[in-house]
Amino acid sequence: MTTATRRRSQPAPLLSLDAARAQMLDGVKAGPIETLPLDAALGRVLAAPIESRLTLPPWDNSAMDGFAVRASDIVGASDDHPVTLAVTGESAAGRSTHVQVEPGTAVRILTGAAMPQGADTVVPVEDTDAPMGAADLPGSVQILASRPPGAHIRRVGSDLREGYPLLAPGAYLAPAALAVAAAGGHSRLDVYRAPRIAILATGDELAPVGATLQADQIPDSNSVGLAAQARESGAEVRALGIAPDNLADVVDRLRAGLSWADVVVVSGGVSVGAHDVVKDAFDAVGHVDLWRVAVQPGKPLAFGRARAAETDGQVLLFGLPGNPVSSFVTFELFVRPVLRRLAGHADLIGRDFVRATLQEPVAKSPGRRAFLRVRLEGSDDSGWTASLAGGQDSHVLSALAAANGLAIVSEDDDSLPARAVVDVMRLR
Ligand code: AMP
Ligand code: MG
Repeated sequence: MTTATRRRSQPAPLLSLDAARAQMLDGVKAGPIETLPLDAALGRVLAAPIESRLTLPPWDNSAMDGFAVRASDIVGASDDHPVTLAVTGESAAGRSTHVQVEPGTAVRILTGAAMPQGADTVVPVEDTDAPMGAADLPGSVQILASRPPGAHIRRVGSDLREGYPLLAPGAYLAPAALAVAAAGGHSRLDVYRAPRIAILATGDELAPVGATLQADQIPDSNSVGLAAQARESGAEVRALGIAPDNLADVVDRLRAGLSWADVVVVSGGVSVGAHDVVKDAFDAVGHVDLWRVAVQPGKPLAFGRARAAETDGQVLLFGLPGNPVSSFVTFELFVRPVLRRLAGHADLIGRDFVRATLQEPVAKSPGRRAFLRVRLEGSDDSGWTASLAGGQDSHVLSALAAANGLAIVSEDDDSLPARAVVDVMRLR
């Protein structure tokens, strides 16, 4: 009995999505760790805690442009009963003054400037007779409103304190996190390296994007879509190009990927058709199993591991179905969580979910969890509706492009009526 007939007569049992994902993630750890300057760390995950090296603000300073005064001097001040104070100096950001505010005097102060000795409150320029933005320091100022002690003063350490925790390991380095690291005196951070993924397309019918198409050819859209999904998941991408349906070719290109990548993704050629060589190619460089995962689209899937060419590490091998919607959905469900684990994220899905009301009846394969391409409309306040974004066959890329969500229908349902409520994973 040949391998092919054995496979056909005894198909592997359907594996649940969760069981498949758990096997793929087994033993996958975040890292390695690298140290990067802040501007290169955007979108990474922090690998080690940092504390603030600075206290910020470093001194009490003014939150407003105005006059630093003694609150006891201006009790009861109003438009009808202005209090006149002598102006003895100015405190500007980066140019603080050593002038002491004595009773009956004021120091002009600008936002961020240190509070002068003796002053305990700030009167905004709007509540004085001084013209806004005047260059020359007035000799005196009329205060037209009273202020209690402490008004408009930003206290020393009200933002950061030296030695206190600033960012915890696992923190996602969004722009605000990078800014606070800088404010706390850090210029470099220990982060998890971006996962490295190599992407290979297989199929005699594929032409590189942009090439003139010969008869029997279609563009290799999967390489573009998968690379974009990988980048969006925080990975660094290398394209391994297009291999024809030829074992030696696929193996050669895989080896190029193994010398660099943490993950190799191949699209197409994973069924058991006469020209489907990906399983055998994976077996030549490592070990894989052909899985039938209980998802729709995306049932045939090859997954395995190979030894990394230059290190002791392992490379994860994914053989995704060639149909563009299947490759997209299986990447989202299986490859993205692996990339996020490598990148150091605790939340491996990293997507928002909403509950939405289906606008039409839907049908699906029994026993598989379906991911339907839908158009979500509404809001958290008014509620969400989901309409099919077009044909649900796994070659209909146009419906995927029109969708902004994947509606999830359980393994246990063969169909759902209009008005049924479903979970929808939001896509951007
Ligand atoms: P396969 O999984 O190789 O049997 O391919 C299934 C379907 O997906 C076929 O219609 C292929 O032409 C199509 N396909 C495979 N690879 C790609 C690709 N890289 N870009 C676009 N379509 C593809
Ligand atoms: Mg093919």
